[in-house]
Amino acid sequence: MAAVYEIYALSPGGRQVDWSTRLFMEPIGTTTTSAYFLWLLRGPAGALLVDTGFTARLGKSKGLPVEQLRTRDELLDTAGCNPNEVKTVILTHLHWDHFDLEGFLPQATFWVQRRELDFWHGFGGQDPWTRRFLSDCFAQDLEAVRSAGRLRVIDGTLELVEGVRVEWVGGHSPGMQIVVVQTAKGPFVIGNDALTTYRNLRDWVPPAIHLNSVAECLGAMARIKSLAGGDEGRICPGHDGEVWKKFPEVKPGVYRLA
Ligand SMILES: [Zn+2]
Repeated sequence: MAAVYEIYALSPGGRQVDWSTRLFMEPIGTTTTSAYFLWLLRGPAGALLVDTGFTARLGKSKGLPVEQLRTRDELLDTAGCNPNEVKTVILTHLHWDHFDLEGFLPQATFWVQRRELDFWHGFGGQDPWTRRFLSDCFAQDLEAVRSAGRLRVIDGTLELVEGVRVEWVGGHSPGMQIVVVQTAKGPFVIGNDALTTYRNLRDWVPPAIHLNSVAECLGAMARIKSLAGGDEGRICPGHDGEVWKKFPEVKPGVYRLA
């Protein structure tokens, strides 16, 4: 029998944002709930994480109402996952709300696309506008895992373990990758910020943040839609508060996607 995984979206909470920060060229004036997530996969290879979440310290420095948010430690504890024992972490991309370590996940190996690393080591990490997407600990975090031999670099598509595959899609960030997971209800796509919200797909609008290219964003959206057979119940976007309603909250802040 093929390897099948359970998927849990762990959410610290969210904040109100204007739709124009989610849908490219959307007029300003209507708001939506922007949620934050990291994802826990459970299956034959044990517990895998998709992205790391962020510390309250970093969240506060980025303007989040952290006193109203759950911490990632609380969320993992609630989900019954010990962060000190996690061995595998897929980094969808390296923006601050997806990659912030500060000593977190000390045993884990981190899987990231080469194009993402190259961009942030070059132009992206130097330009004062693009740098806003990184954690202020970015360089130290990356060096810590690299020097410990805990960084793995991917070019394109890779089946990490049976039942869990990553695919480079670009668009939102140069090395953006999506995660395709075999579940009891079929292939499930963690579209992440390649698909910030369901409305990007429904209205066919690229994400407002597309550091690499609009064309890549549209290609990514088409790929996500096709992988999930057009079924929104098998897609999770990166920042949509609708996820809280669409899937059962099995424990506080823990949503079972599949
Ligand atoms: Zn994000």
